[in-house]
Amino acid sequence: RIVGAQSEGPVEEAVSLSLRPQRLADYVGQPRLIEKLTIALDAVRARREPMDHVLLHGPPGLGKTTLATIIAHEMGANLVTTSGPALTRPTDLVGTLTRLGEGDVLFIDEIHRLPVIVEEYIYPAMEDYKIDFTLDQGMHAKAITLPIKPFTLIGATTRAGLLSGPMRSRFGIVHSLEFYDETDLLKILTRSADLMGMTARGGTSMTDGLQTMARRSRGTPRIANRLLRRVRDFAQVRSDGRVDPDVVEGALQLEGVDKLGLDELDRKYLRVIGTVYEGGPVGLEAIAATLSEDAATLEELVEPFLLQIGFLARTRRGRALTARGAQHIGVTLAQQPDENLF
Ligand code: ADP
Repeated sequence: RIVGAQSEGPVEEAVSLSLRPQRLADYVGQPRLIEKLTIALDAVRARREPMDHVLLHGPPGLGKTTLATIIAHEMGANLVTTSGPALTRPTDLVGTLTRLGEGDVLFIDEIHRLPVIVEEYIYPAMEDYKIDFTLDQGMHAKAITLPIKPFTLIGATTRAGLLSGPMRSRFGIVHSLEFYDETDLLKILTRSADLMGMTARGGTSMTDGLQTMARRSRGTPRIANRLLRRVRDFAQVRSDGRVDPDVVEGALQLEGVDKLGLDELDRKYLRVIGTVYEGGPVGLEAIAATLSEDAATLEELVEPFLLQIGFLARTRRGRALTARGAQHIGVTLAQQPDENLF
């Protein structure tokens, strides 16, 4: 199980593992990245070498872990998963690295949270498949080099800017994942609904209901799959188990998901800026304190989508609502923020 702020409960995790595509061909969307990876995989398979290290960045739930699973699967290699915060001491990393088999894939989630003292040990491992460390101190200090098996590191981070320059430069493939459009989310939802054995009520097509969900999943496959599980529950308890647009509407309303896919936290965030701070600009910390939320959670989970749909602007002086963002929550701004202040 992957340790991290975004991990789901054990049951949900088991369901989402079964929904996780295993082959590159089943991975929906992100065409540029898939093309890069296909070329890299074909080339190294022919040369019988491990693949170059890969750094993926983008908001949670866009498919970074899934890609790591697929790459390992396509290479016929084992996948070892860990996370930046789990590797607190250099010995944690050394232990993980020395246990890797030839060609294995090591996935480090939240790699930006790797402690600096651990980060230094990973450089020679990534570059030359070795670990350098010093035994004892002072006069008796002895430098030891420990060889490790050639491996592929896949790092995931929510934003590229969080990673140190030396770390970033050691990845051969660096890619930023994008939010998914409705067409791609519909494909993901159709596949998941199929795997979960969901059926549509007679006279309606499954696509009718799923289309609505695709539009209201904040461009994020994890959210789409989570809402689908809620729809399945709703259909089972409030109806005869079959899905139709009314069931979807009822389940989404119960989840507090609005027409644009925003949830309660998104709307609370917008409302705080709109009312308490009169539209902003206001610093993230102030918003977080007012909401009693963690600033990092807001920055990783809430803001990227609001920025993407043009409801929020990040200016030098802080966050500001745009006219559209204000309109969505029914607030009239006294003064329009200057959106050219990036
Ligand atoms: P991240 O690691 O970026 O937080 P995950 O890889 O855990 O995201 O993806 C979350 C869920 O969304 C997975 O369970 C997977 O089933 C689904 N998913 C993500 N990306 C895709 C995709 N491109 N195609 C199909 N399903 C996807």
